[in-house]
Amino acid sequence: MAGLATAGMASCKGKNDNASVTKSEADGEVPADKMEMRTCPTTGDKVSLLGYGMMRLPHRPKPGADNEDEEEIDQEEVNRLVDYAIAHGVNYFDTSPAYCRGFSERSTGIALKRYPREKVYIATKLSNFNPATWSREGAMEIYRNSFKELQVDYIDYMLLHAVGGGQDCMEELNNRYMNNGMLDFLVDERKAGRIRNLGFSFHGDVKVFDYLLQQHDKYHWDFVQIQLNYVDWEHATATNPGNIDAVYLYGELQKRGIPAIVMEPLLGGRLARVPDFIVARLKQRDPERSVASWAFRFAGTFPGVLTVLSGMTLMEHLQDNLRSYCPLVPLNDDDMTFLKDIANHIAGLNSIPCNECDYCMPCPYGINIPAIFHHYNKCLNEGNIPNDVQDENYRRARRAYLVSYDRAIPKVRQADHCIGCGQCVSHCPQRINIPRELHKISDFVDKLKRESTIL
Ligand code: SF4
Ligand code: SF4
Repeated sequence: MAGLATAGMASCKGKNDNASVTKSEADGEVPADKMEMRTCPTTGDKVSLLGYGMMRLPHRPKPGADNEDEEEIDQEEVNRLVDYAIAHGVNYFDTSPAYCRGFSERSTGIALKRYPREKVYIATKLSNFNPATWSREGAMEIYRNSFKELQVDYIDYMLLHAVGGGQDCMEELNNRYMNNGMLDFLVDERKAGRIRNLGFSFHGDVKVFDYLLQQHDKYHWDFVQIQLNYVDWEHATATNPGNIDAVYLYGELQKRGIPAIVMEPLLGGRLARVPDFIVARLKQRDPERSVASWAFRFAGTFPGVLTVLSGMTLMEHLQDNLRSYCPLVPLNDDDMTFLKDIANHIAGLNSIPCNECDYCMPCPYGINIPAIFHHYNKCLNEGNIPNDVQDENYRRARRAYLVSYDRAIPKVRQADHCIGCGQCVSHCPQRINIPRELHKISDFVDKLKRESTIL
């Protein structure tokens, strides 16, 4: 049932978490036997600190397709990446029925089926985002299908997917997992051994996180997946007013002895694509390491972190991330202070906290939401957001923004075509007010265009 209708399914083609890794940073030996391992307290699983996020798998043109843009997952390349990851100590693979437009689980199953089942830990999610799948039958169909796609008879790590989102987050939690009895069912499945560890991934409103942790005595969460990176540690509310700092989330898990699984260690790739002045500072401190490696070492330094997920599309990204954890050199107090200062700068940049997950897509009106936000953030990082007319670079930056905007996004898919219907909003795990941000960008582009005819 790959392709089961779950609104907010993520496309994964062409995205890389640490897209800025250069060829030279990726060159060189990656040790095969030095992976940092962590122990899951409930099951004793020895889990690799680097976890493979199967949400950004490589694609290739679909053979025989009429439309040359039609693509499919490149299974040979997925197998090659998985083989390399396993050979270098990675044993945790995280997928979902919603990733890669519904095809990630199948691809993950094909790649991992070539290994003894006990050699790998497979994580997947009950991704019943679509209200049509909130019924017991709908949710159950998704759950059962995961076993089929993954070709397994047990799941190592099962998650309630992205709790905390939705316009009424508590009501959505109740509808997706409580009223239909699915959470109780999953607890029974754990007792029966078909689920080995049960947890949830959290994005959004902290009241859902707090509520579920208050239920720890009842549900015995084996792990919780949270967004943790050196900017969100203390600046989650600055990068997105609806978010909550990771220092709080991690602290609450630590109090209860629940291991954290980290997602978004690179803040949707943005900590690999930082402005040049920040790259210069990171390189000055450690010329040998990639920009992304700082973020991975930050996340890995916390002892309560079981694994750090990264969606890796290219071999050089996998190799770079492996180097960060084979072995892990934890950050010391000076490094932490240094990164705190870097985080302050990044938090002050006012970028849009879009991690290009595509859950908001497709927009019924054709707006390419993630591409518009990506373009805006990229220009911000490159210093091409013209604000001050007095600035000598103003004209150059204005032209750069307008030209690259038209090149990156076809006119009919640009921000000014958003009608503000709001259908995308509830799908965004980052809780971005998508129409508001699009309208801000649209106004900004209008202003630049007007000025370019006068100035
Ligand atoms: S609010 Fe705008 S971007 Fe969102 S679904 Fe509606 S038209 Fe598309
Ligand atoms: S706007 Fe939100 S849902 Fe859409 S791609 Fe960005 S983070 Fe994902």
